Amino acid sequence: MSPETPKYHRILLKVSGETLAGEKKFGLCPDTLKAIAREIKAVTDLGVEVGIVVGGGNIFRGLAVSAQGIERTVGDYMGMLATVINSLALQDVLEKAGMPTRVLSAIAMHEVAEPYIRRRAMRHLEKGRVLIFAAGTGSPYFTTDTAAALRATEIGAQALLKGTKVAGIYDRDPEKYAEALMLPHLTYFDVMTKDLRVMDITAVTMSKEQDIPIIVFKLLEPGNMKKVVLGQEVGTLVEGAGHEK
Ligand code: UDP
Repeated sequence: MSPETPKYHRILLKVSGETLAGEKKFGLCPDTLKAIAREIKAVTDLGVEVGIVVGGGNIFRGLAVSAQGIERTVGDYMGMLATVINSLALQDVLEKAGMPTRVLSAIAMHEVAEPYIRRRAMRHLEKGRVLIFAAGTGSPYFTTDTAAALRATEIGAQALLKGTKVAGIYDRDPEKYAEALMLPHLTYFDVMTKDLRVMDITAVTMSKEQDIPIIVFKLLEPGNMKKVVLGQEVGTLVEGAGHEK
């Protein structure tokens, strides 16, 4: 096999809102968006089909506003709308980097995005368009991690890539503990039972049921996403117990 032959031919990338904010805690960082576009381009240049689910935590989180007295479901819809804002920003930078894209929204808003229709999504992928799935699952009480696992399942993605700020999954928070250890290989069960807090449990359960490997890796390390797609050992690979080495 040539060293440039992808291990995964169709992937779903989850990018959190926080990642899009770069060093800031809020809003969008233009340089970070461009860096993400370069990572994605390196992968589409290999012929890999890419779907992306974008979070909204850099703008709005339902739980946070419900703590301020706004009803949880209202806050969740506000959070989903935040993911649409992020999706449009990402679409713009991806198109400028030379990738044809479509934003597919789980909440209908015809003037800014296509509605999410699975069959249409499949057709776009076949035509080499990068898909950005906006508005999460379209339902409150979910997260965009779960939307990512759901869309990965629906489009038949061979891997769910979770791009983060740190190198992978650690035994404790690496931003708080200098001695935190990165764990290169875990089972879904480990992630669910060891309280590793890297992804919500619904998303992990869904990936487990569908046997979709999850790779948690540092998105803003140049060349990293391509390495993941080529099957090189980057970050943490989460898969079923039967796959353990
Ligand atoms: N959200 C929701 N349903 C979904 C996905 C997201 O209600 O299917 C809301 C929820 O309030 C969440 C917010 O949108 O807090 C932003 O998504 P998330 O927190 O997953 O973003 P991230 O942490 O990845 O930036």
